[in-house]
Amino acid sequence: MAVKYSCAKCNRKFVDWGAEKLGFSCPDCEDSTLEIVNFEPAAKVKSKPTLKRVVAPKSDAIEPEISAEDL
Ligand SMILES: [Zn+2]
Repeated sequence: MAVKYSCAKCNRKFVDWGAEKLGFSCPDCEDSTLEIVNFEPAAKVKSKPTLKRVVAPKSDAIEPEISAEDL
């Protein structure tokens, strides 16, 4: 997989050899450092299963408060 770098200041992207050629500093920004961008292939990123669970109300836990005697 190709390694890419991005400027910490202007977010400009560089390929690995490009960043190396520039000495890992952005030509547009002074005193900036190029950081490695870790990107995953789009296929891996899509629809991660969330751990969020919908708590379904238990029907048998809710008892009617009105008894037959009140009617
Ligand atoms: Zn920059």
